Amino acid sequence: MIEFERSLEFAKELDLADPLAKFRAMFHYPNSIIYFCGNSLGLQPKTARTEIDRILKTWEEIGVEGWFHGSKNWFSYSDDLVNSLARIIGAHPEEVSIMNSLTVNLHLLLVSFYRPTSDRHRILIEEHAFPSDQYALKSQIRFHGYDVNDSLLEVKARAGEHTLRTEDIIEAIDESIALVLFSGINYLTGQAFDMEAITKAAHAKGAAVGFDLAHAVGNIPLELHDWNVDFAVWCNYKYLNAGPGGISACFIHKNNFEKDLPRFDGWWGGERETMFLMEPNINPALGASGWQISTHPVLLLASLKAALDVWDKLEDLSLFYKKRDLLTGYLEFLIKELGPENYEIITPSKANERGCQLSIRTLKNGKKLFNTLIDRGVTVDWREPDIIRVAPNPLYNTFEEVFLFAEILAEAVQ
Ligand SMILES: *Cc1c(COP(=O)(O)O)cnc(C)c1O
Repeated sequence: MIEFERSLEFAKELDLADPLAKFRAMFHYPNSIIYFCGNSLGLQPKTARTEIDRILKTWEEIGVEGWFHGSKNWFSYSDDLVNSLARIIGAHPEEVSIMNSLTVNLHLLLVSFYRPTSDRHRILIEEHAFPSDQYALKSQIRFHGYDVNDSLLEVKARAGEHTLRTEDIIEAIDESIALVLFSGINYLTGQAFDMEAITKAAHAKGAAVGFDLAHAVGNIPLELHDWNVDFAVWCNYKYLNAGPGGISACFIHKNNFEKDLPRFDGWWGGERETMFLMEPNINPALGASGWQISTHPVLLLASLKAALDVWDKLEDLSLFYKKRDLLTGYLEFLIKELGPENYEIITPSKANERGCQLSIRTLKNGKKLFNTLIDRGVTVDWREPDIIRVAPNPLYNTFEEVFLFAEILAEAVQ
């Protein structure tokens, strides 16, 4: 284990030894002095404009022919992207479908995986789940004619603790649970859940398991296929850098392909080879693409392509996770140096229980402190009532920035 030091020289040494240092130049760095908000919106890859321009140019020059013209045709545009995503989430390409946006995909997959019955109708979620997920789940419960108060169950932190214990999650899964729907990393606390253990426990009780990986994809190692997760949804605009409101994707485990699960159809869920025969009944595609409904939005896929091209250049993903542990570890070390009377880090301290983000609970004058940070050109975010979320991204942030951030934080407390 490396011995951290609070000095600019030390931070610069870590930057010099950083095998990912070259990635920063692949992004446009915004006007802030320090950008630690990649957990909310990842930075723009420099090739995003080129890729979008390429689509515009084809449209300009050949119109509808663009759908089938050449190797970069719009019709098969997402094929390579699916491969890139599959590597990042630990899936087979046919288990990945690029479509819609996150909450929409959550609804569509709940159609297939939330099938409540009178003695098994509960959904188990974590305390402080992202609001959109809560809204989606509550509306699904009501849609099926059940009562949210009875059918939505939260696992809560123990008194005096901020994060959940795996044993408490597993303990809460019983035969009344139809679906366990957890995030991979909780957006507020930054806690990474043991998805493999949760999946195993849920399946042992006959429940389906889905994960919202908005904060986990491109942040922590994932092996969705091997863990036997039933389905997962995420957005690509956070750690994957696909741009504001960029197109999302989802994972559906192979084991579920032949189960004839109910789902909502549209022509893009049909087999590509036969979809233009325009037959009255769908000839469904086998695989996750069977869940797709509409024509894919090629302009959005173009900026996703730019984002994934950067990830493709990172042949050894473990380098990303190693740098992440160091960056976040260094940040944690420096914040602790500032003293426990001002800040409490509520994110777990174990590397395998968190990703890039540290959630810092401010103990006094939190909002004022946050505003001072913003005034000083530091982009981080605030979550009521007292949390500052800070997420240095290994692809484009530096140890020097982590050091500078802590210095600014130290001054701001004064
Ligand atoms: C960011 C985020 C969302 C956003 O959902 P959209 O449908 O893309 O607006 C949903 N859930 C979680 C857990 C998130 O972190």
